Order: sequence, then structure tokens, then C-alpha cells
Amino acid sequence: MRFEYVWLDGYKPEPSLRSKVKVGEFADIWSFDGSSTQQATGDKSDCILNPTSEYYPGFVMCEVLNADHSPHESNTRVNVPACDDWWFGFEQEYFLYKDGRPLGWPEKGEPRPQGDYYCGVGTENVIGRDVSEAHLQVCLDSGINITGTNAEVALGQWEYQCLGVGVGAGDDLWISRYLLHRVAEDFGVSVNLHPKPQSGDWNGSGMHTNFSNKEMREEGTEQLMTMMCTRLQSRHKIAIANYGSDNHKRLTGKHETQSIKKFSYGVSDRGASIRIPLATVENNWHGYLEDRRPASNADPYKIIKHIVESVT
Ligand code: MG
Repeated sequence: MRFEYVWLDGYKPEPSLRSKVKVGEFADIWSFDGSSTQQATGDKSDCILNPTSEYYPGFVMCEVLNADHSPHESNTRVNVPACDDWWFGFEQEYFLYKDGRPLGWPEKGEPRPQGDYYCGVGTENVIGRDVSEAHLQVCLDSGINITGTNAEVALGQWEYQCLGVGVGAGDDLWISRYLLHRVAEDFGVSVNLHPKPQSGDWNGSGMHTNFSNKEMREEGTEQLMTMMCTRLQSRHKIAIANYGSDNHKRLTGKHETQSIKKFSYGVSDRGASIRIPLATVENNWHGYLEDRRPASNADPYKIIKHIVESVT
């Protein structure tokens, strides 16, 4: 069988995805040269790949261990607290790029202003749908719970939504990003996860994170949801430190964001840090909350850790 081992390297502030192919009978631990990924020095270069989740047909998400099998310092997955009854729905936004600019943008200047592109149809209004569709199909085949896709507000910008359980939600999101990069290779385009790749009157890219635990879903009350928002407020600075680099360029208070310097929450409020969905209120406050602060380049393991630790 052919396995594609995927892991996160030691680059900062965000890690990059790496992979290599292993031919064998089953997915067991493996090793790689950590001196080429900023995870080890040349004289002690071996790092270990420990499989955490497997996806059809042979994609393997791995965590990185040191040679003595202790967690490597770049391993953020190991810090996620137990959260098996938690659901996380990530809304991953991204730009497709070609020749150093967003796909479909002219060589000089900008396309016409935002307005027609969001959920647009027709060659004048949308570009890159073949990439989004191919990625969706690959994710569905692999067993990842992708729940939707859409063309986003800027030309060349797209989104998909990915729902997972516990720490596995982080594995799923990382593999979905990996598959997106791989699919984009086939189309000769690249994926840009920067939260504000184009300055000016253009939306940035976020990764809104919808979350719930069993108590919220089954015994939620207005008091419980408000208490959770208040706890998240008290740790706002820590959140920002964990929600992706360059996020201040995106969280400006414009383009459906709250300013990075402020914290607010509200029912149905897309200009708030935390949105309380109308569906949650209408379901007698049973349901989920949406943290709108995470950037598109954020590490989902860090987001999960922050939310679970903040509200419990
Ligand atoms: Mg969106």
C-alpha cells in the first residue's frame, strides 16, 4: 500500500505542511530528517512521525516526536486538553494565487470592487471553482466531514467548512489544507492562507470557529452562553496570541470583523468577536457559539486548546 505521511514543520510563526510517501503494509511510526525542517540539528537529525489519524486512500496525519519519543517542541497537538465531547466547525477561507497575485486579478491594478463575487456565478464573477470542486470531492472521499464550500467576497477567494470532533477536528483541518495544496498543484495554482494578502478595500481571510460541547448542545441556557463569552473576553489577549500571525491586518473593525483591540459578543452580530447564532437562541439557547477572531493561517490545535481551556 501507498501511504502519504503528513506533518507540521518547525517554521514560525506558522508551521508549513510537509509530506513523504511510504510504501508498506500498514501505517506505523516513521522518521525524517528534522535538520531540513527546522526541527533538529544536523548531528542529531532524526525526528519521529507518529500517526494520529488516517484518511482514505492512505493519507496519514502525524505528530512529531523527538528521537526519544517525547513530544517535539513544535508539536502543538500534544497540548490540547481532553475534549472528546466537543465539536468544532472551522470555516477555512483562502485565496488562490497564480504569478504572485490572486487568481483572476489583472497584472496591474485591481479587479472591479467587491460586490458580485460572493457566492457568484458566471465567468465574470467567479474563478477557481474547478479547484474548489476537486478539493471538495477529495475531502469527501477521504472521510473528512466537509459541510460546504462557497466563493468568497474577493475575486479568487474561497471558503470551505470542516466539522470535526475533539482533537481530531484539528487533524481533519490540517489534512484538508494539505489536500487543498495538493489539488491546487494539479491546476498550476497555489493556496495563500495569509489573513490579509491584499491591502485596501478587500476582505481578508479568517477561520471562524464554531464550537460546542455536550452541555451547550443539550442543556444550553442564556446564562451558560453569556458566561462562556465573558470567559473568552477575559482571555482575549491570549486568544489573539494563538489565533494566527498578522491577524491585526484583518481584524480592523471593517469587512465583517471586530477590531483586534476590542472584544464584543452579540446575537447574530457578524461585527462581533463572538457571534451567538440566531439558531442557538431560537433553539432555547441549546447549540453553539462562533469565535470570529481566528485568522485563516491559525493552527487549529491552538484554537481548540484556547477555547476549551477558556470556557471550562
Ligand atoms: Mg466566509
